Amino acid sequence: MRKDRGGKITVCLVYPNQYRLGMTNLGFQTVYAILNSFDDCVCERAFLPDGVVFGASSGKDAPLYSLESQAPLSSFDVVAFSISFEDDYLNIPKIFSLAGITLKADERARGNWPLVVAGGAAVSLNPEPLADFIDVCVIGEAEGALREFIDVYIRAIARPCSKEALLNEMDSLKFAYVPSLYDFEYDGPVITGVTPKYGAKKSVLASKHLNLDAYALPSSKVYTPHTAFKGASLIEIERGCGRGCRFCAAGFLYLPPRYRNVDAVKAAVKEGAAISGKVGLVGAAVSEHPAIKEVIEAGIAAGGSVTLSSLRLDMLDSGLMGLLKKAGYKTVTLAPEAGSQKMRDVINKGIDEAGVLGAARLAAEAGFTKLKLYFLVGLPLEEDADVDAIADLCLRIRAGMKKGSLTISVSPLVPKPVTPFQWHPFCDKEKIEKRLARVKKRLGIDAGITLGAVSATGAFVQAYLSRADRRAGRFIIDAAENGVRSAIRMNEDLIIASIYRQRSKDELLPWDIIHHGVTKAYLWKEYQKGLNGRQTPPCDVGNCFRCGVC
Ligand code: SF4
Repeated sequence: MRKDRGGKITVCLVYPNQYRLGMTNLGFQTVYAILNSFDDCVCERAFLPDGVVFGASSGKDAPLYSLESQAPLSSFDVVAFSISFEDDYLNIPKIFSLAGITLKADERARGNWPLVVAGGAAVSLNPEPLADFIDVCVIGEAEGALREFIDVYIRAIARPCSKEALLNEMDSLKFAYVPSLYDFEYDGPVITGVTPKYGAKKSVLASKHLNLDAYALPSSKVYTPHTAFKGASLIEIERGCGRGCRFCAAGFLYLPPRYRNVDAVKAAVKEGAAISGKVGLVGAAVSEHPAIKEVIEAGIAAGGSVTLSSLRLDMLDSGLMGLLKKAGYKTVTLAPEAGSQKMRDVINKGIDEAGVLGAARLAAEAGFTKLKLYFLVGLPLEEDADVDAIADLCLRIRAGMKKGSLTISVSPLVPKPVTPFQWHPFCDKEKIEKRLARVKKRLGIDAGITLGAVSATGAFVQAYLSRADRRAGRFIIDAAENGVRSAIRMNEDLIIASIYRQRSKDELLPWDIIHHGVTKAYLWKEYQKGLNGRQTPPCDVGNCFRCGVC
């Protein structure tokens, strides 16, 4: 999208990782499209360059420019980061350095710097680790919020104003979090007080819209083969998930589940299939869209292949499997998450072993030969027998497959903010390694199962950044300058005290100032139910008010 910059607010939207990953992200594409739909705004993109070398600057790095007009980032009114994953925080100092923009927000108080903004799922869950670098965090959903943000920005800069005055204007937006307007006090790893300054609001209300159909359907606007989905047209057909899996941040953050109008979805699918021949349906619970079969049929009729970003295994039947086969689906990916019923109850998965085996059988009967399963280790109350149950379940599924391949992915649980497990300690790194090794050993080498495991160190860093307070800014800078392993050593005491600690019910959490609708009391109740192996039924939107969102 190329627009003349003259007389408009200029925004450089930055994805803090490589182009291929950024352009795979529908949220990033959606913000780009929304900002460019405004007559008074022009939005360009920038990414972390491929092959960039971390560590102290060698002076040889090429400066970072926007993709569309090759303008320096410092020439934009606003530099806006779209951040979905905490791991990408580690790239942010490098991006500032390549852009020639001072990293620390307080050091940008004087001078003609762009306003630095951040949004996206990771920032909405807990913006505090980035507090030292970001001027304004936009919390929640982009729809509606971006227009309000631009309006307030225009109003603020209509007359010469200091950065301080600009930030105070931004604070008037209910969904804007201005980190510099809050003082935090600590006692070791624990936050003992949060004080809003200069009249800042006491709480931030995430942007959220119960009627999503009032806003344009998010779909790919830029087509490129350089994405994980190789040029597919991505369409968000629903948002949120009402199943209440207790580890799932996407589920709780985007409550309640909201399904897009079927006619609008079908029209977008038809258009996407015509443009790229490949359609990817996106959402936390895509297979639960009430008209999912009709939508897939529309894609097939338009001559396109159709894939779904998630497939809930108890939503499968032979009709849906047949349609997926016809739609060009190659690999059926399911998420039992745990091998034992005890663990599935702790996480509120709402499925049993017969359901998992039945889904695998349906896939085989429909002619699928590639099956992929996702599991978690390091769950609350987990014992060796629960870990063994993962391998045993996979061996039973493998035995039932006449041919083809079974791949399993086993990841450590990373307790996330705004979920019932937000109080729970991260499982000890050595214990996780032992559990991964245990699954591997029990599967045996000739089982015909490929095991992919997420690195325990990667999960350890993510576990810290997900629930860290603003003191994590030091770790982020150290990691960018000296590498992650050195940064862990340099900040070890704080990290260990943060991630392995059982938080108490009333402890102030770094993200407590932000309200997504789900009450803290409800999350605590869900946590306690999980520890007692008790289940909670799915959302019953319209008849239920238990979590506070509806
Ligand atoms: S109030 Fe009930 S239906 Fe609404 S999001 Fe919460 S649990 Fe789901």
